[in-house]
Amino acid sequence: MIYILKGHDLRHAVEEMILHLLPTVITEQAETEPEQGNYCVSELEINGQTAKATATVKICDKIEQKSRETTLPNTDELANKRVLTEIIKLSIYDAILLFLDKAPEWGSLTGVRPAKLARGLMERGLTRPEAAVQFREKFGVSAERTALTMRAAAHAQSAIDILPENSVSLYIGIPFCPSRCAYCSFVSQSIQKSAGLIPPYVDSICEEIKRTGEIVAKTNRVLSTVYMGGGTPTTLSPEQLEKIMTCVKSSFDMSNLIEYTVEAGRPDTITTEKMQAIKLGGADRVSINPQTMNDEVLKNIGRHHSADDVIKAYEIARKIGFSVINMDTIVGLLGDTPESFENTINTLINLKPENITVHTLAIKRGADLYDKEANANQHNSVKKMLDTASNLLSNAGYGPYYLYRQKFTAGGFENVGWCKPQTESIYNIAMMEEIQSILSVGAGAVSKLVDLKTGKITRFVNPKYPKEYMESGERIILGKQKLFHIF
Ligand code: SF4
Repeated sequence: MIYILKGHDLRHAVEEMILHLLPTVITEQAETEPEQGNYCVSELEINGQTAKATATVKICDKIEQKSRETTLPNTDELANKRVLTEIIKLSIYDAILLFLDKAPEWGSLTGVRPAKLARGLMERGLTRPEAAVQFREKFGVSAERTALTMRAAAHAQSAIDILPENSVSLYIGIPFCPSRCAYCSFVSQSIQKSAGLIPPYVDSICEEIKRTGEIVAKTNRVLSTVYMGGGTPTTLSPEQLEKIMTCVKSSFDMSNLIEYTVEAGRPDTITTEKMQAIKLGGADRVSINPQTMNDEVLKNIGRHHSADDVIKAYEIARKIGFSVINMDTIVGLLGDTPESFENTINTLINLKPENITVHTLAIKRGADLYDKEANANQHNSVKKMLDTASNLLSNAGYGPYYLYRQKFTAGGFENVGWCKPQTESIYNIAMMEEIQSILSVGAGAVSKLVDLKTGKITRFVNPKYPKEYMESGERIILGKQKLFHIF
């Protein structure tokens, strides 16, 4: 679809809203309306305090026009840009919606953190029911997704209440996996190709952990949670896991720690020895990620394990005595059906893990049109699977504790972490709601300094690939020291 901007240059906002509603189109900017074909003109007029955005959309020879107006806050440039972006997007949403059979479940929301948005409404003085009404009416979000958001927002608020203001979390990234899953969009190296990189990587990450501990001590912060993720951390040997976890213990004051997670991830990497090393290293929460309990679907996604292997891995973890076990699933995998996904959720519920996370498959960036169409066509079955999971999990005593959306998910849906009471992962909430600073170590790890008063977030990103990462030790430490204002 051709789009034309008049009176503004917020191209990204326009493209984002068009693709949110029409995910299979290809967008292209032009100076004027074409004589043939579909287009969207986005026009902005500002008169003193008032701003008006108008969208004129032509699809299949029919033209619709919609406008939204607002009063500019004029407090600073960023605040003005925020409200202008909002009315530009909403005007396009209103106009394109007239061509669709039904509104998307998440209405006009394109952002990834709906619960953070809902909390923002409550921070501005609205009660929870008032915030829910505004959330639903202003953004056109469905009743189910509004309820989900408000429940996740309440959990986020409890996490804010228990985290001290000067607390930080530590993320440890292990970018290796036994083989690559078909849908993977992470920078993770399969060990067939990169086994030799693991020992020097472990040495580099230990050095980075030690230096990061010094930053935390120098800035008088307290460590509240640790999360080792990947990749698949259990690709490492028990000795390598022990080396990293011992280094964490000796580099940080662990006396304020409230949670320590290791993402064991793939069941084909889990052994009793590794789980013992993880427990002795201090972790109390592990994640075992089947994604599906359907063996055919596991084959389709390139996993080299069966649903039975998941159960065996779960039993090892349970026997060793972790207090919280999470299990990840993905909706929308190749060959999965609502019935088979229902079976996956029921099987996991029967195992009684404390947490079950339901992700929606995200298509890779740069996916071709065929993939985009296949993804968009899955809308109904994905909705059915998510709704079934929500009902089964709620009935089994789980509640949604964190929620985020990703770009390019099947049908534009969400990822939800479900938990039994009092077992929510504080790290996941803090990360998704951006309520705490985080120091991250490892290739591609992103450290974030969150200013809770202004909401400003500053980031430092480590080099993406292990080799490049291992060559950049001192530069990474300098970058983090700068981020945390140590000169
Ligand atoms: S386990 Fe995760 S990180 Fe590893 S290949 Fe599969 S999707 Fe990618």
